[in-house]
Amino acid sequence: MSQQPDSERDPAGGGGDVVTTIARALREAADALGDASVEEPRREAATLLAATLARDRAYLIAHSDDALAPDALKLFRDGVRRRAAGEPTQYVTGRQEFYGLDFEVSPAVLIPRPETELLVETTLDLLRDVRAPRVCDVGAGSGCVAVALLHERADARAVAVDISADALRVAARNAARHAVAGRLALVASDCFAALDPSHKFDLIASNPPYVAEGDLDSLQREVREHEPRVALTPGGDGLSVIRRLLEDAPRFLREGGCLVFEIGFDQHEAVRRLIDARVWTLLEIHKDLQGIPRTVALRLNG
Ligand code: GLN
Repeated sequence: MSQQPDSERDPAGGGGDVVTTIARALREAADALGDASVEEPRREAATLLAATLARDRAYLIAHSDDALAPDALKLFRDGVRRRAAGEPTQYVTGRQEFYGLDFEVSPAVLIPRPETELLVETTLDLLRDVRAPRVCDVGAGSGCVAVALLHERADARAVAVDISADALRVAARNAARHAVAGRLALVASDCFAALDPSHKFDLIASNPPYVAEGDLDSLQREVREHEPRVALTPGGDGLSVIRRLLEDAPRFLREGGCLVFEIGFDQHEAVRRLIDARVWTLLEIHKDLQGIPRTVALRLNG
């Protein structure tokens, strides 16, 4: 870190205005975020400033003595205020990385979670020997699962459905951003309601809303107050969309096709009981990096 003073009189002598350097702006922001009990305030400040300047964090270190333009400073301070008031960082920056790709996010969509990468991995594994697979993503949100999949498998096509038209608009931009829009159809639909069962899929993937209504209060404040409720919980015990997937997916799958979906903490036993062994073969319930049973993989019986 530089030992120089990070705020000084404007050397151009412009009436003694105080110049705010990158280092000073970061310190100010870290203080404000720390006062608001945001965790890792320095890191958050750097993330927000890097996003404001459309640079990476290394740039901030290399340019810590540079003055910030007034417009950039105002934008940055607005972002810090929003973050300090409890908005998730990703809604302030409009960005989240998922499966190595940069995704646009807005309050219309759930912020992609690292554990959901397991849904993509499991899907890719199951499709390894299927040529030109057709995939359906139910409750696509930002489109992160479908887009990551299509990005990995150039021969795949997908249908992404979501009940929210606002979410689908975000998914469309993410598909375009990662050059897979030509292989992705976006459909406004409550689960399979608007789909034609004469078109069968090789695999149906879903990160459904699964939080039990009674557990909403125990979620982090950022999640509870800012992420779309429709993406988090279907109400009740949290399992109603999973029940519908298990019930309806067989009509949309080819023989031997797969259903892969994410579940919440402590739901695996309840979900196991919902699986009709005459219809499905349970392949595996994969654990996430924290050891939590997270991704259920099923094959439709022949
Ligand atoms: N994993 C999210 C959470 O715990 C919930 C996402 C979902 O319901 N699909 O906040």
